[in-house]
Amino acid sequence: MTQHIRRSQFVYTYGPGAIIEGVHGPRLIPLPDKGLFYGEHLPEDFEISDQRVSQGLLAGARVFRLPSNAELGKPESSDIYKTKSFPSWNLCTVCHPRGCYVLYLGQTCPVCHTEGGHIEAIRFVLACPKGHLDDVDWFAVVHGGNSCSRQSKYYNWCQAGSSLSQVQIECPECSRKVNLGWAYRQAWKCSGRFPERESIGNSAERPGCSEKAFMIQRQAANLRIPELRTLFTIPPRATRLHRLLESRTIRTVIACKNSFASKSDFISELEKTAKEGLLERSVCAEINSYDWQDIQQALQDISQLRSSNYSDLILEEFDELLNASVNGYPPKRDRSGVVLFEVDLSKIKCVWGPRRKCQFRIAPLLRLRSVTVQTGYRREVGGTSQPPDVVDVSFTDKDNNRWYPGTEFLGEGIFISLISESVDCRGESPLNLKWKQAWQNGHTDYPDHLFRDKKKVELHPVFVWWHTLSHFLIRAISVDAGYSSAAIRERVYTRIDCTSDSAKGGIVLYATQPGSEGSSGGLISLVPYFDSILQKAIELAEACSNDPLCAENHFYLGKYSGPACYGCALISETSCEHRNLWLDREVLLENAP
Ligand SMILES: [Zn+2]
Ligand SMILES: [Zn+2]
Ligand SMILES: [Zn+2]
Ligand SMILES: [Zn+2]
Ligand SMILES: [Zn+2]
Ligand SMILES: [Zn+2]
Repeated sequence: MTQHIRRSQFVYTYGPGAIIEGVHGPRLIPLPDKGLFYGEHLPEDFEISDQRVSQGLLAGARVFRLPSNAELGKPESSDIYKTKSFPSWNLCTVCHPRGCYVLYLGQTCPVCHTEGGHIEAIRFVLACPKGHLDDVDWFAVVHGGNSCSRQSKYYNWCQAGSSLSQVQIECPECSRKVNLGWAYRQAWKCSGRFPERESIGNSAERPGCSEKAFMIQRQAANLRIPELRTLFTIPPRATRLHRLLESRTIRTVIACKNSFASKSDFISELEKTAKEGLLERSVCAEINSYDWQDIQQALQDISQLRSSNYSDLILEEFDELLNASVNGYPPKRDRSGVVLFEVDLSKIKCVWGPRRKCQFRIAPLLRLRSVTVQTGYRREVGGTSQPPDVVDVSFTDKDNNRWYPGTEFLGEGIFISLISESVDCRGESPLNLKWKQAWQNGHTDYPDHLFRDKKKVELHPVFVWWHTLSHFLIRAISVDAGYSSAAIRERVYTRIDCTSDSAKGGIVLYATQPGSEGSSGGLISLVPYFDSILQKAIELAEACSNDPLCAENHFYLGKYSGPACYGCALISETSCEHRNLWLDREVLLENAP
């Protein structure tokens, strides 16, 4: 990869089918089996073992992380992921007759024969809501339905100004012309191409497609929106012993012989596996150092999966977080030093909200492991007429295992919940009722792809309240503590109890970037000052630099937010788990804590 991409960024921002900007022009990232695992390297050498993710979210598919150059024994400067040049059309910006540029396919301008220097890759590509991506068919654009006596190798690109409508593209053979501004607004025939699925060096495959395709700038954010799923590692699977037993090899041993008479029986099975070279001896020894009773308990914990859809897995997290914020974790009797989830009871702080309407419980999560997988992407082109499809980014290896790209991170976080369920927004104000109505009608009035799943809990006023608070807390932390807000991520929980018509929520703010300010205890060191952070958050919610305009943007059915803009509630795309939707300063302020 010529553009230097952090390995976590590959999952959070890019991934197969993304266009990156290389030193020698734009490049397309192929599927991992084409770009990374085409030779000696195998995805299992870089597996992220996590059953809740694999079994709960991915129907049994496995997760790999990108290896580092060092792990592959390659110098930092070498590319470990092969990419291919895309788009294929270039613009020669040498001054040709009449001051026009030349649009051509290939490496060398067919008019002035200049290589390099004045060449820039064309900014436009063609994409459809089914996720297809291809070069613009410039012949069709220039000629419309007409034929041309000779297929030209290039077109004249005559630019009278900086706007698209000031560009005329002309065929040098038949002199037909088209205005780029007009062409940009048209719907075009889609070629059905997925360039990431083609082997590098192979020619393009264009099976056709029934959707219309649209021209879009290759760097536009809506050209490729990754579908991400993140889960935290929560009790009971959060001890070192659980992680060891959850490894694929040991799960296979357990599956082959599903009961063990004694500890020595179990350990001797593991040692047999180690003799075959499938398991590290040190792992056997480490497991052997635990009591049989603990091993049995852990084996039982990992044998059952409680939930198998995203929102239930997230509610499971919420319950464990609530539990840990009251009881701490791990329990004292746990002798294992290394855990992947830790809440020290003595460090939990209870603070009143600035209006003294309710009390928050602020629990520092001293250790928090997250696994994020990219399951696919969407190309949001062609307006809202057609909701975009999710394009899967998994690949299947020769043993028929499916693999998704993922990243894991052991960091820290803060869990915020309410002690007394006095506020958030159970009130029956007209505004709360509007959101509630949106939530009840969510299945018809709002497109599915904007939500975690069909439950569309994001429209519930309690979710909106917590989500808006989360954004203002992130902003308050960056204003007050000089923390880069892009380094903090959020997770918003809401449990709705339909029978009692009540709901409760909470949020986790966590840091995910290795080596950034977040990973060194920076975030949890803020816990003692949380009363002033809460106060700052509410102050920030009260005034926006775009008021009174922003404040007038009241929520109504069909809208995605109430008053919320870049001057107030919106935060970096990498921090928000919900695309900066479902925010409403009014909901928060009407029920200010
Ligand atoms: Zn020039
Ligand atoms: Zn030229
Ligand atoms: Zn022509
Ligand atoms: Zn298509
Ligand atoms: Zn605003
Ligand atoms: Zn958000």
